[in-house]
Amino acid sequence: MTGRNPIEDLAHLRHEFGEHGGVNMSIEASSTFTVIDPETMPDLFQGRAGPDKGCYLYGRHFNPTVFNLGRQMAALAATEAGYCTASGMGAISGVILGLCNAGDQIVASNAVYGGSYALMHDFLPVKADIHTRFVDITDIDAVRAAITDRTRLIFTESVSNPTLRLADIPKLAEIAQEKGVKLVVDNTFSPLILSPAALGADVVVHSLTKFISGASDVIAGAICGSEEFIGQLMDLHLGSLMLLGPTMDPNVAAAIALRIPHLPLRMIAHSERALAMAARLSELGLKVCYPGLPNHPDHEMFDELRCDEFGYGGIFTLDVGSEQSANTLMSCLQNEQRFGFLAVSLGYFDTLMSCSGSSTSSELSDEDKTSAGISPGLMRISVGYTGTLEQRWTQLLTALRTAGIIDR
Ligand code: PLP
Repeated sequence: MTGRNPIEDLAHLRHEFGEHGGVNMSIEASSTFTVIDPETMPDLFQGRAGPDKGCYLYGRHFNPTVFNLGRQMAALAATEAGYCTASGMGAISGVILGLCNAGDQIVASNAVYGGSYALMHDFLPVKADIHTRFVDITDIDAVRAAITDRTRLIFTESVSNPTLRLADIPKLAEIAQEKGVKLVVDNTFSPLILSPAALGADVVVHSLTKFISGASDVIAGAICGSEEFIGQLMDLHLGSLMLLGPTMDPNVAAAIALRIPHLPLRMIAHSERALAMAARLSELGLKVCYPGLPNHPDHEMFDELRCDEFGYGGIFTLDVGSEQSANTLMSCLQNEQRFGFLAVSLGYFDTLMSCSGSSTSSELSDEDKTSAGISPGLMRISVGYTGTLEQRWTQLLTALRTAGIIDR
């Protein structure tokens, strides 16, 4: 089955001119906005006038440049509305605090980004009396069994960080609907490839810091959902975004808007390179995990749910047995071969690699890492598209030999 292709919706939206007819939207540098008629002010505060009618109040509420990027993100995510935040974590925490009150519960995947895990595992119980039951999200019965009458949402990544398991979004959406809870999906790893809202998710969050920005130069996030939900997050009294204020800077919004048109090309390039490398590593008999390989446990489901054009994503993992072997390999790849960078994050045009257990998943206890499938030697590799495939493959092979992971 082929998922929807959001590029068509985006192409319509892009016909938005800058203030002086520029082909790019203008950067609105104002933090506050004037009204001609004083009567408009209470309308803005009461929500009777707003950005949909071209009326703006204050930058933490809505800024035209950020609002336009939000509309582009909504088109990309197939939702009614989108709101852009200062970071992916700002988006995730805003959504959770928008859906949960003190005493409420979350059912979450046990394999999520370490920051999301720490937010739910450590921060929210202490600060807000919101508690999370972590489950193997691929075990649908376990998900169903974990939901209680206090559960407000199921939280999962579409493709888990770093274990690359695919959440069965249509099935999770069915359970969420049956139980009257919201399904929140973090689609950071698979923009364009998967369309969680079209598959049944209620809310989609993104760290725009990764593939969508593509240059590892900004920190940003987005929340995509219904008009009603986004409106609720902006409520003057209880809106988590309005009151906690994780607002995106308009300069960042303008920078990201200039990259969305070539996101499709970049995703295709990331996916092609990652598939080629993962396949070659697999042929060498190494422990590589990539959803595009037929031996990946979710390969068939991925084929059912994904939008064909964009491949299987730009990330694979390689388990080299121990943290020490991973460190030797990564040092060689960065410092001798210039294959990529030993750095956290992902979605950059060059390759980024890190040992998840001791970096972006270090918030998990050893026991939780084991149950999430994060072994000490697991390297997460976000494959860039610079250089040629053969040049990069030679660098990788040389480093694997130097590190003693394959025979010379
Ligand atoms: N979601 C996922 C899957 C991530 O990998 C990350 C960061 O690595 C985040 C959310 C947090 O995003 P940000 O760093 O933009 O706050």
